[in-house]
Amino acid sequence: MKKRYTNFKFSAIIVMSFLAMLLMLSGCTLEWELDYPANSDSKSTVNSDRLRVIFLDVGQGASQLLISPSGKTMLIDAGNNDREQAMLDYLKQYGVTRLDIIIGTHPDADHIGGLDRVIDHIDVGEIYMPKIQANTKTFESLLLSIKNKGLKVKTAKAGLVLDWDDEIEVTMVGPVNVSDSRNNMSAVVKVVYGNTSYLLTGDAERESEKDMIDSGADLQADVLLIGHHGSKSSSTLSFLKKAAPQFGVIQVGDNNYGHPTSTVLDRLSKQGIEVYRNDLHGTVEIASDGHTYRITTER
Ligand SMILES: [Zn+2]
Repeated sequence: MKKRYTNFKFSAIIVMSFLAMLLMLSGCTLEWELDYPANSDSKSTVNSDRLRVIFLDVGQGASQLLISPSGKTMLIDAGNNDREQAMLDYLKQYGVTRLDIIIGTHPDADHIGGLDRVIDHIDVGEIYMPKIQANTKTFESLLLSIKNKGLKVKTAKAGLVLDWDDEIEVTMVGPVNVSDSRNNMSAVVKVVYGNTSYLLTGDAERESEKDMIDSGADLQADVLLIGHHGSKSSSTLSFLKKAAPQFGVIQVGDNNYGHPTSTVLDRLSKQGIEVYRNDLHGTVEIASDGHTYRITTER
């Protein structure tokens, strides 16, 4: 009797050790994931369908891929020219064969550089860009790809409501005014799904931030793309307070501009914003089921 009891205890130890080992092993192979409750919600429903907002690691540049629970797709920017193949690889990796909406936030190479090749290779629904040009080969090459595809560029500006997915509100809150500065002409996109929200700011700087605040638009967003790669020309305290995000993502790679600046990093930290960066974390995905966020980082 005693022996059997001991045997039972011994088996239990073996089973538990095995389970612990399995857990450790799966922890090693799974990407790091955390569930956070959304700012304004107390309910939590079980729902595996998520809006995926993926901040693709394109080095020094920016690109966000959005995939809705029903499979709608949107690409905001596509990194620099040297990331064209990487962009096509990403789209393949995420199973994207068509982009319902493309937004080129503004005509700087680190945002639109990869768009021409994406347009050449992928089915595209609509494309939005602000009314400002650049005298560059990169910009000309993008216009050529758009023309060859038979697409017509729609003007990106504040007040637009985009028809993307019935369950998700997509609006533009910038640019509010016309500016000579390409950065300040950046299309700024707000995405709301249930109680969760994202504000994707391109390279909007303080002038545009002030215009957006003055416009009275609702800028609150749990997830904020930190403007202009963390440059100190963006992310004014008043703008951060309006957006009041829980999470901030900085799309940044090796650069000579000093991005992200310590001024901005300090400001984010003082506001209690949890920061994710492409240079430190690789590609960052912040997915939402309408109530909670699931954050996955590549490293
Ligand atoms: Zn930029």
